[in-house]
Amino acid sequence: MAVIFSGVQPSGTITLGNYLGAMKNFTSYQNEHECYFCIVNQHAITVPQEPEQLRKNSRNLAALYLAIGLDPDKVTLFIQSEVAEHTKLGWIMTTLATIGELERMTQYKDKAQRHGNGDSIPAGLLTYPPLMAADILLYQTDYVPVGDDQRQHIEITRDLAQRFNSRYGEAFKLPAIHTREVGARIMSLQEPKKKMSKSDANSLATPYLLDEPETILKKIKRAQTDSENKIYYDREGKAGISNLMAIYSLITDKSTDEIEQLYEGKGYGQFKNDLAEAIIETTRPIQKRYYEFVHSDYLDQILTAGAAKAARKAAATLNKVEYLMGLSRNC
Ligand code: ATP
Ligand code: MG
Repeated sequence: MAVIFSGVQPSGTITLGNYLGAMKNFTSYQNEHECYFCIVNQHAITVPQEPEQLRKNSRNLAALYLAIGLDPDKVTLFIQSEVAEHTKLGWIMTTLATIGELERMTQYKDKAQRHGNGDSIPAGLLTYPPLMAADILLYQTDYVPVGDDQRQHIEITRDLAQRFNSRYGEAFKLPAIHTREVGARIMSLQEPKKKMSKSDANSLATPYLLDEPETILKKIKRAQTDSENKIYYDREGKAGISNLMAIYSLITDKSTDEIEQLYEGKGYGQFKNDLAEAIIETTRPIQKRYYEFVHSDYLDQILTAGAAKAARKAAATLNKVEYLMGLSRNC
């Protein structure tokens, strides 16, 4: 039985990219592995959040985790800030990291760019990866199912773990990334060379899991393509259509070759209509379950129990780390 850990930020509404790239995968682990799924609200505050919205987004995200099919009797679902070990180990991992390696992270470079110069770039954007390393390492994680954009963060997690283990003694297992072959990076519908993100200001670029059917149809119809009106997979030359094909492929379990055959001689209009229909069919049952969970007290009970369970495992790792580092008086 392997240990699985993954987190999603309550930094907005969950996108189709989050779902297809990471969350859809989560349910496949729950029957055979020890799974920890976290709502990483302390990562979300690396950029300013409105307090009431953050509180709401965190709870909504928990409901969505359940709505996609995670069973709280099988997985540990919890909110990061409710398990204090995350920030405690996060600080320790920050002290092991260097400014140079943190500045090389592409997520930092992308997000910092939106804030202008050093006086307005939140420092938390830079120190995000050591906190993420702590999230993962606390549970002695084997696999981290995430989108391709997190590859660099998993690599630095391994580097920091190794650095600790060789400097102070074995405390951490080295985790490995798990990504999907197709769909590890779903692109923006409006700028298909840019990753789809829930914090994108242009909502047309992003179908959300909770979008109404008409909104999904509108967003897909307006998605950027090219003028060739021929459907084939070419990530470089036909970024827009290839991205839509990747989405279609993940939703219908058809390969891109099959999709090409299916749409031979047909235009973008029909393909987009079919794709929108497929997305709507996928999101409908998720949305139904979501609205049941989000209005129930059961959700809060699950989160409270999840935090207690996570804390037990996290404390064991942190105690060992603090002892090895000389931070605690006793083992
Ligand atoms: P933000 O813009 O606030 O960073 P995000 O959409 O990138 O939001 P995260 O909470 O940072 O979402 O990431 C949650 C999970 O979704 C991670 O596993 C991440 O790798 C994955 N993910 C995010 N965007 C995509 C995408 N475009 N394609 C595939 N997976 C993605
Ligand atoms: Mg992100």
